[in-house]
Amino acid sequence: MATTLDGEALAARLRDDLRESVERLADDSARPGLATVHAGDEPAAESYVQMKQRDCEEVGIEGTRVDIDPTAPASELHDTIADLNADPSVHGVLIQDDVPEHVDWRTAIRRIDPEKDVDGLHPDNVGRLLAGAPRFVPCTPLGIRRLLAEYDIDIAGANVVVVNRSMIVGKPLAALLGARGGSASGGADATVTICHSRTEDLAAKTRAADVLVVAVDRPRFLDGSMVTEGTTVVDVGIGRVPAESGRGYELVGDVDAASVELKVDYFAPVPGGVGPMTRVMLLRNTVRAARRQTDAPAGE
Ligand code: NAP
Repeated sequence: MATTLDGEALAARLRDDLRESVERLADDSARPGLATVHAGDEPAAESYVQMKQRDCEEVGIEGTRVDIDPTAPASELHDTIADLNADPSVHGVLIQDDVPEHVDWRTAIRRIDPEKDVDGLHPDNVGRLLAGAPRFVPCTPLGIRRLLAEYDIDIAGANVVVVNRSMIVGKPLAALLGARGGSASGGADATVTICHSRTEDLAAKTRAADVLVVAVDRPRFLDGSMVTEGTTVVDVGIGRVPAESGRGYELVGDVDAASVELKVDYFAPVPGGVGPMTRVMLLRNTVRAARRQTDAPAGE
């Protein structure tokens, strides 16, 4: 039976550390501030926005949410971003990704000051990651790397297979884990394979993995027949399937835990694995942003 990679417990410890950093920063210069801009109306996104507010509160970050009418023109979002860029009490700015169809999310991202882009999605930050000199790395890849490190899972030289090629998961994760280790790049010397919907014989690729990261957004997509004994499996997908719970659904990952856990050595489940790590890495990036903008001493 696999050892669980407990992201919940690790994230709780990291939040405690961050709370102390925030207190020190607030004494020295400024309380870190994170603004979340919500221009959409998807219920799942709304709950993510609320979670971010609660997370900020828990560690003492000044969390602000800015809601924009989903029918408003893109210029309203752009003006809001310009205001937040200019506000010295706001150190991190992010745009919830459920923007309405008439708004181009990428254009909006490009308007965030790269020094405040704590999601690490501005092309300037993407480029820096690829160049081996990251400023802000997207939170999910950061969280995955930290979770693997916590359990001493050997990445250097390992075959890491990532089933996803999005800008928030697969691409930055490949850049991060595949970069040269032991330097400011935060790299891990892995040999990374990226898979996607056009990959032929996916199961042959996933079975060859030492570390397998799955984010396809299909509940219980990966089953025990697609993994080899001894592997580490990291489930990133978050799906909702109808259930007779109070809220009417259950959160499930992309991995069929029942069959995979029996075979592999380590398993990061959904919920409780990568999700809490992603959330705490956003807080960490915000604290780093505040340090950079207030010339406070570096530190974690
Ligand atoms: P996305 O942009 O839709 O990416 C899904 C990826 O899966 C794409 O690269 C897609 O390939 C690939 N894919 C889909 N079907 C496939 C198949 N049959 N075989 C192989 N690859 C397949 O989604 P995302 O934004 O990256 O998010 C992915 C999942 O992770 C979602 O469930 C999301 O909620 C979750 N997530 C969780 C966290 C967390 O903190 N836990 C953070 C981020 C995302 P193509 O590129 O060819 O379409």
